[in-house]
Amino acid sequence: MKVELLDLKVQYSNIQEEIDKAIKEVLESAHFIMGPNVKELEKEIAEFTGVKHAIAVANGTDALMISLRALGVGPGDEVITTPFTFFASAETTSVLGATPVFADIDKNTLCIDPEKIEEKITEKTKAIIPVHIFGQMCQMDKIMEIANKYNIPVIEDACQAIGSEYKGKRAGSIGKAGTYSFFPTKNLGCYGDGGMIVTNDDELAEKMRLLRVHGSKKKYHHEIIGYNSRLDEIQAAILRVKLKYLKQWNKLRYEKAHIYNELLKDTDIILPYEDKDCTHIYHQYVVRAKNRDEFVEFLKENGVSTAVYYPVPVQMLQVYKYLGYKEGDLPVADETCKLTFALPMYPEIKREQQEYVASCMKKFLQK
Ligand SMILES: *Cc1c(COP(=O)(O)O)cnc(C)c1O
Repeated sequence: MKVELLDLKVQYSNIQEEIDKAIKEVLESAHFIMGPNVKELEKEIAEFTGVKHAIAVANGTDALMISLRALGVGPGDEVITTPFTFFASAETTSVLGATPVFADIDKNTLCIDPEKIEEKITEKTKAIIPVHIFGQMCQMDKIMEIANKYNIPVIEDACQAIGSEYKGKRAGSIGKAGTYSFFPTKNLGCYGDGGMIVTNDDELAEKMRLLRVHGSKKKYHHEIIGYNSRLDEIQAAILRVKLKYLKQWNKLRYEKAHIYNELLKDTDIILPYEDKDCTHIYHQYVVRAKNRDEFVEFLKENGVSTAVYYPVPVQMLQVYKYLGYKEGDLPVADETCKLTFALPMYPEIKREQQEYVASCMKKFLQK
């Protein structure tokens, strides 16, 4: 048997008629940029998230960049984020000439540890970017309490967590701004690149809309230096079809995750931790095990594809050598990166496939 990490073909075949029709309508309208689908999608995402404004952009990385820019982050500033994530939150900070500062993660949730944030705050701290990793939100009450105490804005990186909840609030709706990515493999993915920023702040939303299109409200009347970071109509039309299924897909991921939990419960493998305040949407089902690299290799030989998120903590990446972090400075992140890997996870995965994955894992453990 072969089990892929995810299968976007089966998803497409299930909704092909609707998707093809939506794309065809855009082609026939010949309106490709900043048209009705982008406008409607923004409304629908704002409503879905429970916020006032949604601003469609070209990708999730730009969503972070534009959020940071709108908050005035620039050279000399510091931004506190997690070391256990995709590069983008640190990268965008660096692109703007600011310095990423890493606070270690919680050993259960693998999200940034709120207790570790406060000691990293200086008079240069201009923003905090918690990342809702693998589809489960951070401990937002504690994070907001610290942020409010020092009056520092929070940007929720919700690129892996669209539709997940913390105490009934959707990811992206709690901080000053939230960011989504519609990269094809995300829980809500388009067929190219796409992203969105959500916020309740009118002034900030206005600035983000300016930054998205070359800093101009009126064409050729540029007020600030901005970007070309638009979402196109074809992607927006695809996302509008898929958004209708998101809740159902997230629920299926949750159910499949619990099937893995059941199948793997009597092993030494550390299974994903569920925070009682959160609704996990299992963007990834990430386990921790000893001899990770051999484990992954064994599964590959047996037709099971996995992925290592993340092999290197961000502070230890070559590009951040100049920041001077040493092994052991952020011990939980260091240790976690040696143990984690993601099992095949998507809404349509079949029970037989999950049983096969689990049986291969047990075979490895008995070796
Ligand atoms: C995917 C992702 C991003 C970047 O999104 P792109 O659309 O690929 O630019 C940022 N942060 C996190 C946590 C992500 O998973």
